Amino acid sequence: MHAILIIEDEPEIRELLAYNISKKGWQPLQAENANEGLILLEQHPVELVLLDLMLPGLKGVDFLRILRSQEEHNLIRVMVLSALSEEERIVEALKIGADDYVTKPFSIEVLLARMGSLLSRGRGKAEHLLSLGKLRLDLKNHSLEVEGKPIKLTLKEFELLTRFMQQPGQALKRDDLLDQIWDYDAEVQTRTLDAHIASLRRKLGREGQRIQSRPKVGYGLDLN
Ligand code: CA
Repeated sequence: MHAILIIEDEPEIRELLAYNISKKGWQPLQAENANEGLILLEQHPVELVLLDLMLPGLKGVDFLRILRSQEEHNLIRVMVLSALSEEERIVEALKIGADDYVTKPFSIEVLLARMGSLLSRGRGKAEHLLSLGKLRLDLKNHSLEVEGKPIKLTLKEFELLTRFMQQPGQALKRDDLLDQIWDYDAEVQTRTLDAHIASLRRKLGREGQRIQSRPKVGYGLDLN
């Protein structure tokens, strides 16, 4: 059964949502503010959050920011509920990591259908997010953050780091990396790889020390 957390301060809307979610065979959890929502998150394996943006106290976007900063909640999908007039806030929420939104007043049928679609997307959120230590790689936006700061990478550096982060702790063969990233032929010198590794290490700062050479094999990303 899918557990759905509803964070909505208006009781009528919250009840209506909870009623329809139960009818659908899912488990509704109700919070009337974001703090309550955060507590419920710790107590239940929530799969989707219906998040009202205009809340007393902690706002919806603040809740979202907290949620998205927590690795263990990577898999949770977020559907934003908002007034149409709050377009800027909706855009902000989507940027922070909301997966979808509906504007009030909404059709409950449409909302449930969209929720169903979000839930069936499987691991959706996490598939394109890779994180290790202070590194966060977003494959969808092609962006990297180190300690929360965006770092610009060249395309090749990005591809390299993606390979490493997809197989952390493993030794990746020099030839395989050259082959996969540079479409290796004799023209590409293997020191091209070393040069890119050196540059990548530099850009990652202290996290760059994770990239270690594995003698006679190639390189690997250290987990510790
Ligand atoms: Ca509200």
